[in-house]
Amino acid sequence: MEDIITYSLKAGKETDYYQAIGIFTNEVIQKLNSEAGHIVSDFKTFIVKNQVEHPRSKVEYSLELLVLGILWRVYLAKALTLNEVPKFLMTSLTAFREKSKLFRGIVNYFKGFLGELWLLKESKADNVKFDTSNFKKLLEWLAATGEFKQEVNRLQSWYSYLGMKSAAASSATIGFAVNLAKWFEKRSNREIGYFTERVNDFLINDYNQYKYQEDNIFCGRSRVEYHMNMVGAEILNRAFREDFISTEEKRVLLPVCLRFQSEANCQATSSQNGRQCTGCTTQCKVNDLSQMGEKHGFQVQIIAHQSTAFQKDKIEPNKVGIVGIACVLNLLAGGWQAKDLGLVPQCVLLDYCGCKSHWHDSGLVTDINYVQLKNILQIAE
Ligand code: SF4
Repeated sequence: MEDIITYSLKAGKETDYYQAIGIFTNEVIQKLNSEAGHIVSDFKTFIVKNQVEHPRSKVEYSLELLVLGILWRVYLAKALTLNEVPKFLMTSLTAFREKSKLFRGIVNYFKGFLGELWLLKESKADNVKFDTSNFKKLLEWLAATGEFKQEVNRLQSWYSYLGMKSAAASSATIGFAVNLAKWFEKRSNREIGYFTERVNDFLINDYNQYKYQEDNIFCGRSRVEYHMNMVGAEILNRAFREDFISTEEKRVLLPVCLRFQSEANCQATSSQNGRQCTGCTTQCKVNDLSQMGEKHGFQVQIIAHQSTAFQKDKIEPNKVGIVGIACVLNLLAGGWQAKDLGLVPQCVLLDYCGCKSHWHDSGLVTDINYVQLKNILQIAE
């Protein structure tokens, strides 16, 4: 276990990750269908009636309810301590950071420093109410961090929905989501926990070095959020599967940490669609996957960061299917972002994290499960 930073899909020696996540996701969906069905049906009616968006499947909305419960449990105590001025400044800083590449370094410095001061304190209050006022505080805190843009987008509709309900009904729904999250945490620790056993050690022993850093919230995510992303990615993969198969064009997006060479030595060239491998070494998995793409008719792009993954694309909805290869903590947000842009996403997890930006001093070369990627792309060999 010494080499594992937070998670590893290879940690469960006896257990194949993709088999384990499939079985546990079946259990989660069954639980959501049997216990959250009435809430989700009512929510979907609200979405349709108010033309909030093109309606999504019930399982996607059920997942959002679970996400609400998990984020409420993990972050509400922090959200309750965020005052108006820090909230305004952090939210403004986050908005400025998104627009400004030029000043990103200095903005990141302030984001890390001020985030440590303002976003990580916890309220000690007991018996916090399950009400829309606290829901609003949670959304505002999530937005202020700059780390939960997609989560805020998805939960905003739930906030509007609950705002139209009586206080008792909205309290019951939030309480239900929180209890669902408690159940999920317990069951996920048992069923898929061996892939994330290092997370708590990391948070206790190593996380301290992220103090005042820009990624202090991203790297401090709790173990249950790893499990939420794992199950969430599996649910979204299933929800988008048929549409993905029908797309005319397929692209595979790879993170830089999959390259064999360092940034300085990699010979990839920039293009409209991200960076393209030039095949400088046969030892590189990106090279390998690029050759597989040439043979089987999909494009391969190297993506420096999820936030820049789709920015240059002008996509006709549902024409392009993408397979995002990403570390666990980026899965759900990446799927939702791609869907919002009209892409049809599938994802394959990096077997472990190790990029230089967040997790390792010199950077580990990461890996993926080729069988899983080929299954997704329907490559038979
Ligand atoms: S093989 Fe491609 S991706 Fe890998 S280091 Fe060389 S140019 Fe970069």
